Amino acid sequence: TSFGFRNVGTGEKQPLVNDVFHKVAKRYDIMNDVMSAGLHRAWKDAMIAALNPPRREGYRTLDVAGGTGDIAFRIIEASDRKAHSTVLDINGSMLAVGAERAEKKKLSANLDFVEANAEDLPFEANTFDAYTIAFGIRNVPRIDVALKEAYRVLKRGGRLLVLEFSEVEMPLLDRFYDAWSFNAIPKFGKLITGDEAPYQYLVESIRKFPNQKDFATMIKEAGFSRVSFTNYTGGIAALHSGWKI
Ligand code: SAM
Repeated sequence: TSFGFRNVGTGEKQPLVNDVFHKVAKRYDIMNDVMSAGLHRAWKDAMIAALNPPRREGYRTLDVAGGTGDIAFRIIEASDRKAHSTVLDINGSMLAVGAERAEKKKLSANLDFVEANAEDLPFEANTFDAYTIAFGIRNVPRIDVALKEAYRVLKRGGRLLVLEFSEVEMPLLDRFYDAWSFNAIPKFGKLITGDEAPYQYLVESIRKFPNQKDFATMIKEAGFSRVSFTNYTGGIAALHSGWKI
């Protein structure tokens, strides 16, 4: 089957991605819960536990493809509202939802929102203590360029954490997961948002993303040290970690 997203070149991918997230921005948070059966919350919590942000002022993090703010909000809360987080996303519609949520949670003082591309970060070198990206990097057309940018803007001693869908490494779970993602996710998407194509894109982008080992190699190639990964839920998602030393 062709969903109309197959075999798009680098130059064409970003406009399609942008269109998907403009369309889903307002329903993004509820869709996340439905699509992952709530699991994304546990994975994100585990990512923040791995980061273990210090409870001190001056700790600066950058959350790339930060969308509606889930990762940045968790970091600030885990730091007892001491940390500062910059939420960066290429999509103004997603950021607008994020800014509204931040107001409601009274977290705005610890945040800023920047509309920019992960491949070309508008920050000086050696700026951030941590760079996080959750379910974002597979949407970026040139992943190697984004990883090099991550390396550049991190301080020495800074941490990279990437949470992304990955390769399921459990015999029965993989079949269930295939059925769920190829059938249920696009159907739910259509039911809730009236549009199936964005969710077909979602499922395809997961299939195309490199597996745990290959992605770890890409992180090393960008210059990071002590690169490792942890599978969540049998590898449905994985957290990759690296350090700039
Ligand atoms: N991190 C959030 C979360 O975990 O809920 C949002 C993830 S959402 C699946 C993916 C986000 O990546 C979207 O908000 C999209 O606009 C953003 N994105 C896609 N391409 C990007 C790029 N080149 N640079 C920055 N953000 C990008």
